[in-house]
Order: sequence, then structure tokens, then C-alpha cells
Amino acid sequence: MNQNNRKSVYDVIVSGAGPVGLFLSCELALSKCSVLILEKTKSPHSPLKQIPFGIRGLSTPSIEALYRRGLLEELEVHKRLKNPHQNSGQGSRRQAGHFAGIPFYEEDIDTSQWTHRLLSSTETSLISEMEELETLLTRRAQFLGVRIERGLALTSFDQTEEGVTVHSDDRTFQGKWLVGCDGSRSLVRKCGGFEFVGTEPEFTGYSAQVEIADPEKLRPGRNVTPTGMYLQSQPGYLVIQDFDGGEFHNSKRRITREHIQKVLRRISNTDVTVAALHTATTWTDRARQATAYRNGRVLLAGDAAHIHSPLGGQGLNLGLGDVMNLGWKLAATLQDRAPEGLLDSYQKERHPIGAQVLDWSRAQVAIMKPAPYARALNAIFRDLINTRDGTTYIAGRVWGIFTRYDLGNAHRFAGHSVPNFEFEDGTKIGELLNDGQGMLVDFNGDPSLETLARGYKNLNYISRKVKDRSGFSALLIRPDGIVAWASDDQPDHKELQTAIHLWFVRNEGTE
Ligand SMILES: Cc1cc2nc3c(=O)[nH]c(=O)nc-3n(C[C@H](O)[C@H](O)[C@H](O)COP(=O)(O)OP(=O)(O)OC[C@H]3O[C@@H](n4cnc5c(N)ncnc54)[C@H](O)[C@@H]3O)c2cc1C
Repeated sequence: MNQNNRKSVYDVIVSGAGPVGLFLSCELALSKCSVLILEKTKSPHSPLKQIPFGIRGLSTPSIEALYRRGLLEELEVHKRLKNPHQNSGQGSRRQAGHFAGIPFYEEDIDTSQWTHRLLSSTETSLISEMEELETLLTRRAQFLGVRIERGLALTSFDQTEEGVTVHSDDRTFQGKWLVGCDGSRSLVRKCGGFEFVGTEPEFTGYSAQVEIADPEKLRPGRNVTPTGMYLQSQPGYLVIQDFDGGEFHNSKRRITREHIQKVLRRISNTDVTVAALHTATTWTDRARQATAYRNGRVLLAGDAAHIHSPLGGQGLNLGLGDVMNLGWKLAATLQDRAPEGLLDSYQKERHPIGAQVLDWSRAQVAIMKPAPYARALNAIFRDLINTRDGTTYIAGRVWGIFTRYDLGNAHRFAGHSVPNFEFEDGTKIGELLNDGQGMLVDFNGDPSLETLARGYKNLNYISRKVKDRSGFSALLIRPDGIVAWASDDQPDHKELQTAIHLWFVRNEGTE
């Protein structure tokens, strides 16, 4: 298809060139779909996407997704999740994250409890910078042929059974599908009749770059105080939580120097002076989720589908997980090779993960509130998190270690991310997933498995000697790196064929 022709019908129109829209476009283009992204802003650059406000913790599933598409090594800002400002007073212990402001440390995590994460050699958590991640994904999307139109906002759309007409003021674009990746205030969600339900905010959060006349009056690191929380991540870069029921954020009043100073003084219980205000934005802990992620030919992903407070830093990870799950399913649907129900499995698998993250953020807010009951619970949580099991549990949740889809398959690994098995020639399974295809991995070199696999299109067959098979004989892996079927002994062909048909074959019988 000629992508320069404005009358073209795109396979997919994506609204929003944030990290989620960009990564989805890459996934679709990898599967040879034509994609147009409409992005409201003219420039991708914003001070709020740069360090330190643009810092995002990447969880294990996000790291694995980027690794499996050959993108991880291109991220220069990746390094272990640690913040020297948060480590003060703790000797050389490395902070690995926090729950409700209660830090936990790498040294206290017992990774041997994560038995389903055998052999994975990717990092479990990294930090990245929004601007760098978006630049990398933009470059990749353009390389794969995605058309990105900046400065064009989706303003409305209409859908029929055949496709979607998208309007950007007086311009129109045709697509077979539309995906709203247009963030927390998603117009696709609002115009598309999606129900968005949840809980109202307890606080207004501020991210602000300021000049402080007397910085010694503020304590370093994250400070949960009787009236809220403040964090000075670098000199002059503030994050504040003010438990005002979200009143200031909702009022849409301008953020002034005087206002920031007033809030900071109250929360830090000091008479600190904010001499100048350079940049500021507000956010809340409002937690809502779309009840359905699909309405006809319109889908939602990322913040468009779910919003919650950034506590514990999971929104970006949730969104990247959405589109790693959605991309190959939508491509298969477009190319008439999807088994029945494949696209619906997007909502089935991702909605419960989103709901868990919303509850995770609510639980933190509940014990951060400046109220006696919350303070009492907070003290108990602090004690529990400071145990080895407590730290291991919290780290596992924050890093997405326990993410598992219910695929209706009883094998202990089904629904989990595939371990990163290393073959004797030094290659690893993750690297072989670069092309976004499904894969049957045969550790025994079984000729009957090869014959079976060769009967299917869009399924790679790999038979190589592995360094440590950890008891497995064969594995069926979806394009998103999820184990769809696994065998410890002699593979049961019938069971394997059922799994292949469930994920890869449109009709009965081989293609
Ligand atoms: C202070 C803070 C700290 C955070 N820390 C973390 C963290 O450590 N880890 C983590 O995982 N998450 C974190 N998050 C959350 C994370 O930033 C978001 O979840 C993530 O950016 C969502 O990506 P997205 O692409 O869905 O939406 P966005 O990043 O909001 O992108 C949406 C895009 O759509 C565009 N758009 C909007 N409307 C339209 C329209 N009508 N037409 C066309 N384009 C449109 C916007 O301009 C934007 O470019 C944090 C959030 C905040 C506020």
C-alpha cells in the first residue's frame, strides 16, 4: 500500500504516539500491517519527559518485551533501579523500589523463591527515560514503515462493520481498526462509548522543578509525613503528595510559585522558601479502568484503558504489556489467520492484570493517608516488608514477576513468560523471538515434532542443543513470549496440536 496516499485504508490507525502507541505500531508493522499514528502534539520533547521526571522503572515483562524485539540494548539509560538520593542513611544497601513510600532493598530479596523464572538472564528491573524510550520506539516504527503524523489530534471517529473513519478537524483517515493509545484523557475512550469505572482521588500529586532558597530545610529522599509526602529526587526537583481529595488537580487552577510553597511548607512542616517555579504539573490517584477494552473495531491500550496513581511506577509497564499482548493478535485477525476468540483473549488476559495494578496503587494510598488508622497499618506493613519474605513478595509484585495468564493449560509454566534458555551455540530463546512469530522449541531433536511443526505457517520450529533444559523436552511459545504449551517428557502430539490450533490456526486442520 502507498502510505503517502491520504486516501489509503490503513490496517490500523493508532491515536497517540506515547510509548504505548509507538510500541503497538512497531508490533503491528513487524507483522506486516500498515499503520498510521496520529499524535496531537507537534514535538515529542517536553521537560516532563526528561530526567528526573521522565524516569520510569521498567518491570521484568517490559524488559523482556524490549529484549525479545532487539530493543533493549539500544536503551542507553538502562541501569539497575537504584536512586542514591533514596539510599541515604542505609549504608551501601541498594534500594530496589518502594511500597507506599516504604523502601525495600535488593540485598533482602530471595530470588530463589521465583522458581518459575528459571534461567531468565534479562534484568528484573531497570530505569529508563521516557524521552529516550519514545525516541527509540519512533525510530523503530519509522524503520518498519509506520506513518507518524504529528500535530494532528484525533477529534472524532465513526465505525461500521468494515472499518473506522477517523477525523482530525477537517481531515479524514480510513482504517480497518482504530486503537486508542491516547493516554489518560483518551478521546477514543470518550467518543467510543467505553465505560470507565473506579475510584476517585485522595490526593493531588505535584511534579515541579523549582529553585529553593534554603534547601537544607528539606530532608533528602522520600519523606512520608503526617500530612502527605515530599521527595526531592535531585536539588530543585520535587514530587509532592497532598491529601486534598484531588481538589487542586480537579480545580484546574494554575500552579503558582506561592501555591507550591504553601503546599510544601505544610507537608514538610518547615518554612522553606520556593524562590522560583520553572515547570510543574499535577496528577492524582484516581483509579479507573475501562470495563471493556474493545468496542467493535475500536480497542484501547495503555493509560487510555486504565489510570491509577504512579505509586510504585507501573503504568508504563502495564501499557507495554497490553500492546505486547495485543499486537500479534490484532495482526492475525487482520490477516485472516486468527483462531476464533483470539482477539477477545486480549481483554481476558489483560483486564485482570490491569485490575491488580489498580488495587496495588489503592492499597498504597490507603496506608499513606494522614489518618491514625492508616498510620497504624503503615507501621505493620513496614515490619512485614522488612522481612525477607515480605521484601521478596513486594519486589515480585512491583517487578511483575508473578504475571501469568490463565490459558486453561495445566502445565506449571503455561501462561508464564518463557525462561531465556541458552543453546549450546550461545544464542538464547529471547533473541529468536525478534521476528514476532510463534515458535515450537524442541530440545530432543524429535523428527516427528519437526514434521508436525512444518505443517503450520507462522510458526517457527527450532531444534537445538540447549545448555540446561531444566526438565523440559519441548515448548510452544506465543509471539509475545508466553508459554502456550510445554512438555517435560515425551511430547503428546494431540495435546500439542490442540495448543497450536488454539493460538495459531484459523480453521480446523493444518493450513
Ligand atoms: C509522576 C509520574 C511518574 C510515573 N512513573 C512511572 C514509572 O516509574 N513506571 C511506569 O511504568 N509508569 C510510570 N508512570 C506512568 C506512565 O508515565 C504512563 O502510564 C505512560 O506514560 C502511559 O503511556 P501511554 O502511551 O498510554 O500514554 P501517554 O504517555 O500519556 O501518551 C499518550 C499520547 O497520546 C497523545 N494524545 C492525547 N490525545 C490525543 C488525541 N486526541 N489525538 C492524538 N494524540 C493524542 C498525547 O499527546 C500523548 O503523546 C508515571 C506517571 C507519572 C505522572
